[in-house]
Amino acid sequence: MLWLLLGPFHAMENQVLVIRIKIPNSGAVDWTVHSGPQLLFRDVLDVIGQVLPEATTTAFEYEDEDGDRITVRSDEEMKAMLSYYYSTIMEQQVNGQLIEPLQIFPRACKPPGERNIHGLKVNTRAGPSQHSSPAVSDSLPSNSLKKSSAELKKILANGQMNEQDIRYRDTLGHGNGGTVYKAYHVPSGKILAVKVILLDITLELQKQIMSELEILYKCDSSYIIGFYGAFFVENRISICTEFMDGGSLDVYRKIPEHVLGRIAVAVVKGLTYLWSLKILHRDVKPSNMLVNTRGQVKLCDFGVSTQLVNSIAKTYVGTNAYMAPERISGEQYGIHSDVWSLGISFMELALGRFPYPQPLQLLQCIVDEHAKAAKRKAGT
Ligand code: ATP
Ligand code: MG
Repeated sequence: MLWLLLGPFHAMENQVLVIRIKIPNSGAVDWTVHSGPQLLFRDVLDVIGQVLPEATTTAFEYEDEDGDRITVRSDEEMKAMLSYYYSTIMEQQVNGQLIEPLQIFPRACKPPGERNIHGLKVNTRAGPSQHSSPAVSDSLPSNSLKKSSAELKKILANGQMNEQDIRYRDTLGHGNGGTVYKAYHVPSGKILAVKVILLDITLELQKQIMSELEILYKCDSSYIIGFYGAFFVENRISICTEFMDGGSLDVYRKIPEHVLGRIAVAVVKGLTYLWSLKILHRDVKPSNMLVNTRGQVKLCDFGVSTQLVNSIAKTYVGTNAYMAPERISGEQYGIHSDVWSLGISFMELALGRFPYPQPLQLLQCIVDEHAKAAKRKAGT
């Protein structure tokens, strides 16, 4: 009874763990794991992704002794589940009963588009599917899992950034989709701005986002915020960028014309650079224009990853008052829409207040005003 002294994980370390993945409205797939206690949440999601390639699974559940479902969506919760499971199989062993597999119930997230109230038409192409058919039959060899975990780590840790090397300091602000922290990067001694966004998305989408963010390494303009890297940890993405000690323009209220003129030149140069790379900014507004004490003005938060833009739009329902009428109405949009947002932003900075009435009829007002102006133009 050494395991009583060492705890369940030690006693079970060499024990093969069988995880029964329940498939909604059909049977189940048994997956044999040889290193149960080391199993990570991401490994399980990866295997669920192979069993249910069509679904977007972001979490799974297991049942406790009362039959209540408990959700697992992180490594911490995985540990709690495994610890609970090992204690139940010990009881079964002691009582001479047959050992039951660990049953898990994949939880699918809402179908795409359901929460996108503005019906934004962003590029919704699906990511390249790596699993054309369910690769799991009865069991998966544990070495194939190890290999895929190592590959994933490489893919999901874009650049040289990782959570362990970052010390979070102050909170710089909260946005509609996340929180931005001032942070210290230990190996380089650099101060960073790290934007952390919670996203309940599949591994496939995470991979797609990481590959779409790659283009940021090629962005080289003094009017665009520097990008240092990004990584996913559990259900959150951290995007590490250059820290701008002057913050964003939304806090500066009324900006005198001669200063605003210089800011406008920098912002337009930044946008022209992005457009030359066929990137639409998609979120031009004063809080995405940053300044520093070296007198530089840089754009941030541009929609380089359509999948990231999509995932945020699906997760966070928000109103963007700087959006062009065609975007509010859910029509196709392009460079002109960025120009609209640029105009509204500069009006706000020049007037010291937002130019449209706030907030109730705002979106309708933008669409109506635009329609009226178009009519007037047609009549002249
Ligand atoms: P939204 O989420 O709708 O884009 P937002 O731009 O206000 O709104 P965030 O992008 O999360 O929200 O940014 C929050 C705040 O963090 C900003 O208003 C800005 O003041 C600050 N901030 C963001 N990036 C940086 C940076 N690189 N350096 C310094 N401050 C930053
Ligand atoms: Mg922002």
